[in-house]
Amino acid sequence: MWTYQHKYFIVHQLPVLQDNYIYIIQDRHSPVVCVVDPALAKPVIEACTQLNITPTHILNTHHHWDHTDGNQQLVQTYQCTVVGNQDDASRIPYIKQTITANSNFSLGHLHIQSLEVYGHTLGHIAFVIDDALFCGDTLFGAGCGRLFEGSFAQMWQSLQKLAALDKPTKVYCAHEYTLVNLAFAQSVDADNIYLQQRIRNDKNKRLHKQPTIPSTIGLELQTNPFLRPLDPKFCSTYSQTHAVETKPLQVFTALREARNHF
Ligand code: ZN
Ligand code: FE
Repeated sequence: MWTYQHKYFIVHQLPVLQDNYIYIIQDRHSPVVCVVDPALAKPVIEACTQLNITPTHILNTHHHWDHTDGNQQLVQTYQCTVVGNQDDASRIPYIKQTITANSNFSLGHLHIQSLEVYGHTLGHIAFVIDDALFCGDTLFGAGCGRLFEGSFAQMWQSLQKLAALDKPTKVYCAHEYTLVNLAFAQSVDADNIYLQQRIRNDKNKRLHKQPTIPSTIGLELQTNPFLRPLDPKFCSTYSQTHAVETKPLQVFTALREARNHF
């Protein structure tokens, strides 16, 4: 478990399953404790026992089992409230508090903004709390989620929303996919010095069994191939070498398709 201090809350990061992260957000000024995307209940219960805290809420970014399978046992153990997108309510187990995408709500003293980030699924939302982004399977370290339900245009729009957040915003995504994503990034953006630096740093972290997550929006803007279409220079180089239109959406689409076959 790793712990990160924010001004108004503390984030605990639990690695579970093959490469999932569950986050526990502890409000500094109220008893509110939110569990983000519990793939499993047991590691959360063990962590909370150790930390002497009690989950009050579960925040689900989307309905996939590796984000919601812990809901049942956590609700039964703590009577905590499952919060999720009202448009995904039929697919999120034990959901109790539905919110709309692109809205603001408060839990304790946590002021939370939900963003509609459809693409990986139709119903996927992200949570922004001050300088922390919980983005599930939309934006990854140097990558982005697969398109299971949405279109390329939807995913591109979603990624642009996240890219517009303040650069120091911490990116707490739901999977440790960074190194394989960086290998793909290297294959399409070899001259990027920020990328070379990140590959060195993140390889070193994994070598020492440290997470590469959270990253920041600033670092993702510099190195994530799925945000690089925001840079016109990158677009013109990529479009010339890969025979696609120079438009950001066309470049993003070509990159996402290339990543599927990488
Ligand atoms: Zn998913
Ligand atoms: Fe997932």
